[in-house]
Amino acid sequence: MVVGAGYAGVMAANRLAAVGRSEVCVTVVNPRAQFVERIRLHERATGVTRVVQLRRGVLHRDVRLRVATVERIGTESVLLDDGSVLEFDYLLYAVGSTAAPGLAGAEHASNIADLDGAESLRGRLRRLSAGARVVVVGGGLTGIETSAEIAYRYPALAVELVSRSVAGWLPESSRLSIEGRLANAGVRVRSGLRVTAIRSDGVVTDTGVLPSDCTVWAGSFGVPDLASRSGLAVAADGRLRTDDTLVCVDHGRIVGVGDAVAPPAPVGEHLRMSCQAAMPMGAHGADTVLALIRGERPQPLSIGLVGQAISLGRREGFIQATHLDDTARGFVLSGRVAARVKERVCRFTLTSMRYPRAYRWLPGPTVPAPAPTAAR
Ligand SMILES: Cc1cc2nc3c(=O)[nH]c(=O)nc-3n(C[C@H](O)[C@H](O)[C@H](O)COP(=O)(O)OP(=O)(O)OC[C@H]3O[C@@H](n4cnc5c(N)ncnc54)[C@H](O)[C@@H]3O)c2cc1C
Repeated sequence: MVVGAGYAGVMAANRLAAVGRSEVCVTVVNPRAQFVERIRLHERATGVTRVVQLRRGVLHRDVRLRVATVERIGTESVLLDDGSVLEFDYLLYAVGSTAAPGLAGAEHASNIADLDGAESLRGRLRRLSAGARVVVVGGGLTGIETSAEIAYRYPALAVELVSRSVAGWLPESSRLSIEGRLANAGVRVRSGLRVTAIRSDGVVTDTGVLPSDCTVWAGSFGVPDLASRSGLAVAADGRLRTDDTLVCVDHGRIVGVGDAVAPPAPVGEHLRMSCQAAMPMGAHGADTVLALIRGERPQPLSIGLVGQAISLGRREGFIQATHLDDTARGFVLSGRVAARVKERVCRFTLTSMRYPRAYRWLPGPTVPAPAPTAAR
């Protein structure tokens, strides 16, 4: 059973199903019948992407789909929100992430981290008149992409990006380049401000209130509390704790993949919540489950990252190449070429899930020695 049909869950389900029904029967439980392309939610909010049905070429044809939400995970079964109970031999925990809770007045903002928030933002943006102020809160990748996309699609709106820092983790030259491109796109960057609350008419910062006709929350991600609610071991931020093969530390037949999971250092500490990490985690999690089924010893996780690809509207982009541990390298790409590369990266995610056994990724910064294979 795979709980959650995001990038990690679909990759895991398809890679397992591709082995054949004689060995594995896969059921995916997901709250909706659609695949949410979260990496395109800022495009969705401005009205340009289509919805992809899980049953139309995303999920492997042998995967069963149950549209429901898992309320609780037990030792051998899960409880669904419709009251029914489904049994499992092995469970892949792939429930992903959404916006972290906590900011006072968050209900006044559209949350760009999930589909409902993106849909609500789409409606709000369409109703705004020329000159209306849109304030995007959060200077991470999501806030940068969202503010640029809104400014690109709605040039008559006054778009502001508010954060303590914008792309603060990148080298100064990259940061300045992104800020310059945002400004060219029509985004007013207000860095150095700490947002303390959101109101219906504006954003409260440590230096005063910024008026806003439409506020977008693009702060850090948080994870669902399903693991902790189910009594499973979690890290301080609620992510499921696993060993270095992705097996849950206190349940030998639960395997965790994607944003909702905290693998230990050194295999997992460089893996920020991202599609880039979720997909190979999904593939590795599938291999771990297969190894367990076959009585073999699962291999330690080893994932290397390659870069951070940022869209800045449809015609501009910025790509920061990284070392395997996600720290910046000297190489960057920008402009139209970067926009095209980013678009290809987005398309590649769906293509890879259709060819799950061919999917490959780079080894991590510290390549663990393969564990010896146990006899059956
Ligand atoms: C606007 C935006 C742009 C982004 N751009 C990039 C990018 O360019 N590159 C990149 O690497 N990352 C990007 N990300 C981050 C990326 O989208 C996430 O890190 C990625 O989606 C994580 O994949 P996942 O499979 O772990 O979880 P998700 O994609 O979040 O999928 C989790 C699934 O589990 C389901 N689920 C949750 N709870 C339950 C439950 N109780 N029962 C059943 N199902 C449940 C959810 O409904 C969902 O379908 C972006 C995110 C956003 C919001």
